[in-house]
Amino acid sequence: MSRVYFDNAASTSLDPRVRTVMDSVTGMTGNPSALHEEGRQNRAVIDNARDSVAELLGVDIAEIVFTSGATEANWLGIMGYMIAVRRAHPDVRVHVLTTPLEHASVKAVMRHLQEEGVDVEVLPVGKSGCVTVDEIRSAIREETVLVVCMWVNNLFGTVQPIPEIGETVRSIRKGREGNPSVPIALFSDAVQAVGTQDVSPDAVHVDILTMSGHKIYGPKGIGALFVSDSVSFTPVDRGGIQERGRRAGTENVSAIAGLGEAARLLTDVRIEERIRLAHLRDRLVTGLAEMHGSVRVIGDPQDVAPHIVYALFLTDADTMVVSLDVAGVSVSSGSACDTGTQRTADVLRVVCTEREAMTGGVRFSLGRFTTVQEIDTVLTAVRKVLKRF
Ligand code: PMP
Repeated sequence: MSRVYFDNAASTSLDPRVRTVMDSVTGMTGNPSALHEEGRQNRAVIDNARDSVAELLGVDIAEIVFTSGATEANWLGIMGYMIAVRRAHPDVRVHVLTTPLEHASVKAVMRHLQEEGVDVEVLPVGKSGCVTVDEIRSAIREETVLVVCMWVNNLFGTVQPIPEIGETVRSIRKGREGNPSVPIALFSDAVQAVGTQDVSPDAVHVDILTMSGHKIYGPKGIGALFVSDSVSFTPVDRGGIQERGRRAGTENVSAIAGLGEAARLLTDVRIEERIRLAHLRDRLVTGLAEMHGSVRVIGDPQDVAPHIVYALFLTDADTMVVSLDVAGVSVSSGSACDTGTQRTADVLRVVCTEREAMTGGVRFSLGRFTTVQEIDTVLTAVRKVLKRF
């Protein structure tokens, strides 16, 4: 039985063109920091990949730091900035604004900051699954140094109003210029956004941003952090001066090459992919909606990235996931990083009723290799599973 993979938000498959580039690099002799020919060849591979990632994001190459993935990039990006700010303003009890929608890896950094004495405030989010700019504007205080807001939520796919938030943070920063006050920056986890949205941090005043290789048809275990040259950053790592002193350790050259190729391919196809995925998504949503009272889809398609459909069934979500798995369809009931924890239910409570949060929902996530036939196969499988309950 051939399987249908609808869990691209957890991890996309490796694009064969990415694999070809990685194969040509894997096994290359030499350390990228070495001065000899072999070292320079490794360095050239990294430089080339950095060019591609910087071009995808429309930023300067010097502002890109390669990491082992977005989990690390989220830690490094937020902590690198926060340590710099706290050193410069040791007498201020700084304030950070965040949302309840953030990925587990960002929530963990927020908890750490709180333990370190930072005043961390979680903004309310409406049933739409989006924060509002007004909410953020009115929560910003004199001591606010960071606004943390993901670009696209990994569970529901809801797109946050990042350009508007960026504009708000920029105008507050401008107002503070010349005053002896703390700086303010915007951090965004763009892992689920990069594949389909126009993620150009400079253009929308995002100062620190993260992305991951295995959500854009690149390899797992590689990610990139963008840190604008205009914000202060203190290295968190010790023991190596790679990545202009911002991330220690010999670079994972073949994974970096893969991320670079994945970024290069994405730059070419992103707009048409967005349109194609939106058509597929609409077909899936229409099909699910026809299953009458038994399904509720979260989010207005206009506000949701086209690769995610989050559906609430009257049936327990894990039972749905297992039944669909047996039928050859791979979906998930939450973020892979939250498997076996209460965290998915906590995020669900933001947009659902308590009963819905307990029952859970199913995330269908589409990707570059999803076909119309697969959408129909999934709909048939869901119909069959629902008949049994
Ligand atoms: N942020 C978001 C929104 C994600 O979806 C993920 C992946 N589950 C991560 C961060 C972590 O990325 P990585 O797997 O590269 O560590």
